Amino acid sequence: MLVVMQAQATEEQVRAVCERIESLGYRAHPIPGAQRTAIGITGNQGSIESGMLDEMSGVQDVIRVSKPYKLVSRDVKEESTVVRFPGVDGSFGGRDLGIVAGPCSIESREQAFAVAERVARAGARFFRGGAYKPRTSPYAFQGLGEEGLKIMAEIRDRFGLRIVTEALDYESLDLVADYADVIQIGARNMQNFSLLRRAGKLRKPVLLKRGMSATLEEFLMAAEYVLSEGNYEVILCERGVRTFADHTRNTLDLSIVPAVQKLSHLPIVVDPSHGTGKRDKVLPLSRAAVACGADGLLIEVHNDPDRALSDGAQSILPDQFDELMTEIRQIASVVHRNVQQPVLSAARAAK
Ligand code: PEP
Ligand code: MN
Repeated sequence: MLVVMQAQATEEQVRAVCERIESLGYRAHPIPGAQRTAIGITGNQGSIESGMLDEMSGVQDVIRVSKPYKLVSRDVKEESTVVRFPGVDGSFGGRDLGIVAGPCSIESREQAFAVAERVARAGARFFRGGAYKPRTSPYAFQGLGEEGLKIMAEIRDRFGLRIVTEALDYESLDLVADYADVIQIGARNMQNFSLLRRAGKLRKPVLLKRGMSATLEEFLMAAEYVLSEGNYEVILCERGVRTFADHTRNTLDLSIVPAVQKLSHLPIVVDPSHGTGKRDKVLPLSRAAVACGADGLLIEVHNDPDRALSDGAQSILPDQFDELMTEIRQIASVVHRNVQQPVLSAARAAK
């Protein structure tokens, strides 16, 4: 159910409706919009007696939301969500594309700083790097753990980049949240519902990757878990799905970008690195992702990819990242989007 408030409804009226909803044993999610506030109701199995609410002052309408996902839907919030960060001009979902770049894993301070300097200089506002890695083999490099998080915190201070890093499990989530600006939940965890709920209790943006066999509906329902706990800042990420095609690591499903944007107000970025698994496919698929309307990109960049401890084959070199940024800047303008120029301080830090 959804309560649509009148355009001129006051804060007190919104609060009174929320209190009434909560007193009935449900959860109220007030979602301010450009025109009016909508209040999503969750926790109800069936429909609520709408008479309880539609007589209240300031209420315009009480409507049933027929889709299984509610809070992520454009029915609840028509205009796109823009995820912003205090103190930095990087964002996701607005006119500027959110560009996240960095190595698959943080391997050492030297490696991480070398890559961070280059991606900052190219104009990225977000740095990625795994401190906790979901590896297929238990014998493969598992990440530096908290040491990796500390290195990324230093990178934030030095280059002004915001940090995107994965929380692998329930146990490490709080620690990751202490250091990260955006908490990544990986493809393998897209349906780890207890982890999603716990991330929903945090007040920090979540970058949620699509599971490798997830449908659009399953993907949106996973995001709904996070929003249902009150965290409305979710950035979706298409990173390829499993198909019979074996010329790439995964099949990057770019068609999900406009499909998500039609149904949901949440931003969606594209990860052509995991989506293709191949360095030489990252640039062409990045161009295509921007052309089809993605709200940003997540790109693995490494200064010595042949010696990377994870995902070297799909990591591009810093020079290739420069080229990628130059090209997508041009494509972005065709689709009325923008790729930000490097900030001066990053250029200065590089000297
Ligand atoms: C990653 O971003 O390095 C990663 C492990 O991604 P995914 O969960 O999409 O495999
Ligand atoms: Mn990776």
